[in-house]
Amino acid sequence: MKETALRIADFKDSIFGVISRLARENQAVNLGQGFPDFDGPDWLKEIAFKKMQEGHNQYAPFHGTPNLRQEISNYYQKFYQLNYNPESEVTVTVGATEAIYVVINALINPGDEVIVLEPFYDSYVASIKMAGGIPVPVTMHAPDFSIDAKELEAAITSKTKLLILNNPHNPTGKVWTKEELISVSQLAIKNDLYLLSDEVYEFLVFDGNKHIPTATLEGMMERTITVSSAGKTFGLTGWKIGWICANQKVSHACRLVHQYVTFAVSTPMQEAVAEGLKKLSDYLPGFVELYKGKRDTFYIEMKKLGFDFPLPKGTYFMMVPIKKHTDLNDVDFAMKLIKERKVATVPPSAFYLKSAEGQGYLRFCFAKKEETLKSAIQNLNGL
Ligand code: PMP
Ligand code: GLN
Repeated sequence: MKETALRIADFKDSIFGVISRLARENQAVNLGQGFPDFDGPDWLKEIAFKKMQEGHNQYAPFHGTPNLRQEISNYYQKFYQLNYNPESEVTVTVGATEAIYVVINALINPGDEVIVLEPFYDSYVASIKMAGGIPVPVTMHAPDFSIDAKELEAAITSKTKLLILNNPHNPTGKVWTKEELISVSQLAIKNDLYLLSDEVYEFLVFDGNKHIPTATLEGMMERTITVSSAGKTFGLTGWKIGWICANQKVSHACRLVHQYVTFAVSTPMQEAVAEGLKKLSDYLPGFVELYKGKRDTFYIEMKKLGFDFPLPKGTYFMMVPIKKHTDLNDVDFAMKLIKERKVATVPPSAFYLKSAEGQGYLRFCFAKKEETLKSAIQNLNGL
């Protein structure tokens, strides 16, 4: 039999799948893959069921149902004063993962370079490689995971076309400051780069910090492609409803890719998410409070176990330094914890191409029931 495609020759099983499998096999408490182990809101599930009963069950328009595109456009206007035309500038995708694939494949030619800020969500590099592009890593340096503007500037060449930024940031929980965002944006403008802004955790921001969409920064609306997803905001990661907001030219290119990847996205779920977005203002305070409570409790317990690190400002992840507890690297320590302590975490070196800094950390997901977090802490006791 002939070989499979070269473009995937160096791909491995995703770290999220690997860790979830190991957690099951070892009956470990799973604080690895990023998803809540509790359900999203009943009222939204009931709306989804109603949408099915009402007959929203055939193919949706390929770029998204009119209701959902309108509600996406409405919330960008209401929360951020950003105007996206629902007809031509909003495209619905199967989660943010498809959105990322589509944006990259719509923009990148073979040989084009794409700046990825590491640690990164793993699908960025895979999507760049599938498009024939070249990922160029720039490290967000521990312990505060800031980037050095000079390093970033040095990584940009005449072949650089796109920079990918994730804010709030998985896996570190960092919420970028306005100054940091402006410094990256200025380089994007100076070098005429597109900027893919992955904002899936836009509403998971704590302690009065405010999410700043990259597109709101001066000169950035036209060159920013914003990607988000209902999965995190409604605690329903399995629904896989995401979207791309971009200018008309880029949206058109994205739609050309999307129509041949999935064509259309689940109709009743889109209709349900549209209703969910209408209720965002009422829903969000309780949602943020729930996750803030989990973050605070888990953080205090981790500190008691001797893990010393800054309180994450956003997302549902903590990037926890392990050097004080072990001489092992992240992968070996993660394996030891799964097997001997029955706690699964993600070794973040999977999110780096260049730096070895990830080897000194583990990522913990705290989007879990109180009893799950309690069991994990009990299992880690005395570490
Ligand atoms: N971007 C980031 C930073 C993520 O953590 C995730 C993972 N959930 C995604 C994109 C993908 O989101 P979705 O589940 O909507 O595909
Ligand atoms: N984004 C989630 C995480 O970081 C998982 C998504 C996935 O499994 N692909 O854990």
